[in-house]
Amino acid sequence: MADPKLTEQIEAFVGREYGRVYAWDRVNAPMIRQWCEIMGVDNPLYTDPAFAREAGYDDVVAPPAMLQVWCMAGLDNENYPPGSTDENSFEVLKLIEGYGYPAVVAVNTELTFERYIGLGEKLYYTSRVASISDEKTTGLGTGFFVTLSMPFYSERDGADDEPVGELLFRVFKFKPAHSGQPADKADQPKADKPVAKRPLPGVSDDSRFFWEGCEQNKLLIQRCTDCQTLRHPPAPVCIQCHSFNWDAVEASGKGQVYSFVVMHYPEVPPFDYPNPIGLIELDEGVRLIAGLVGVNREDLEIGQRVQVEFTRFDDRQTLPQFRPVAQ
Ligand code: ZN
Repeated sequence: MADPKLTEQIEAFVGREYGRVYAWDRVNAPMIRQWCEIMGVDNPLYTDPAFAREAGYDDVVAPPAMLQVWCMAGLDNENYPPGSTDENSFEVLKLIEGYGYPAVVAVNTELTFERYIGLGEKLYYTSRVASISDEKTTGLGTGFFVTLSMPFYSERDGADDEPVGELLFRVFKFKPAHSGQPADKADQPKADKPVAKRPLPGVSDDSRFFWEGCEQNKLLIQRCTDCQTLRHPPAPVCIQCHSFNWDAVEASGKGQVYSFVVMHYPEVPPFDYPNPIGLIELDEGVRLIAGLVGVNREDLEIGQRVQVEFTRFDDRQTLPQFRPVAQ
């Protein structure tokens, strides 16, 4: 049950409005073309002026799904164009956090469009706290769904700015279900409740050898039997010579940390947090993603030498993990 003081303050937030966030650039063809390229969108309405004119438009139009793109900050997260508000439209999350709901996860967004947006238009959006749910309990934990509405407008000289679309952005601000922190003891599962097990990997005819190898404490890497190229993750076809013929070789299990992340939130059972995950470059040359064990976050660095070890979980699944070794 949520603290009534929190509930009261939350109610006061609903409907709160925040100022404009402007677009750095007018809607333009180069940005549209690059976005389509990156997203794999090949509709000529967005990239071919002749096609767009044939379809009744003055020129190419922006893909509706780009709506949010135009008003994004620069590479620095808070780098908004002059005149934009510096208010934090997510300030209610800080309030909720203060009452013991530290985690946040983006849940979903909904876009609605009034019309296509054309070249040269200058956009901005405003924000409004559309709704905040009652306290809810989900698989992740207990907390509040906060929904922000961001209506987008096209600026017009000498006339009212025109609404062109809206983005609804919903986040879940919550107390993790199994955080292991003392403050959350009351939410710990009772001893007689089933303990969450590790999710099992999806196993296909192409990847079965890898998981069967793990069960025998062997790190197996797929090899093309025509050109000897190693590949991972497993796949049906050689990327070098397109051969379907393959076998598997046992890797030394030695390698180095090519990159890594440390997962903090959301805390999903049964994993321990913080949860360090490595992209390991094996000495054989291929890379694979695996959990890191015996790691000090402060000491973890790119290039760290690691060695595989196998751990059996839930008496049903053996996974390769990597442990730092002396350089
Ligand atoms: Zn090959």
